[in-house]
Amino acid sequence: MGGYYWGEKDTVEDCRSVSISFLKKGDYFCGYRSGGIVWKNSYGEEISSIGVAVSTMDGDNYVQFQYTTTDRNTGGKTEYDYKVRLTTTRCNFGGVRYWFVCPLTKDGVYCGRRVAKLYKAPGAHYYGCRHCYNLSYESRNETRTGRIGVFRNVMKAERQIKELHSQIKRWTYKGRPTKKVRKLLTLQEKMSYGLSLSNMLLRQ
Ligand SMILES: [Zn+2]
Repeated sequence: MGGYYWGEKDTVEDCRSVSISFLKKGDYFCGYRSGGIVWKNSYGEEISSIGVAVSTMDGDNYVQFQYTTTDRNTGGKTEYDYKVRLTTTRCNFGGVRYWFVCPLTKDGVYCGRRVAKLYKAPGAHYYGCRHCYNLSYESRNETRTGRIGVFRNVMKAERQIKELHSQIKRWTYKGRPTKKVRKLLTLQEKMSYGLSLSNMLLRQ
């Protein structure tokens, strides 16, 4: 599969993405299941959609993507239908965790990275990992979105922290912080980053 090349660094929010957690929430890892994903704009209008099917039958683990793209210049439509391999790792507490295996090839080298999220950058043809598409997590609109966005994120993190706090029963397991505790620490980090950012914006 061909890669896609970017001159400037795009951010993850410019892209359509499909995550393992989304598929898990939709109960896709249950043998075979097909469905779809619809993206809507802030007015609730559909802006794009794809068909997905997931097979976890008899070790034949894959996600099948089906969608049509429209060429911005010519208006010509191209249909895509391909499978992305899924792999598994064992969870500490039993069961397995699924991962996508990035199907892209960059500079003639097959990627094959194990990732939890696949992206389709604007204008790109295939879903692939953020390394292949050279995506950054930083929002280029951060200053444009301004304080409201930052405050909203801080408030959201604060809510999540409170919620997690009430859920945590064990803080360590075998001397290491539990999954929930690790998540809490990440959120706290995010919140203090958000707070310092909003203070900075306030001063501007
Ligand atoms: Zn990749």
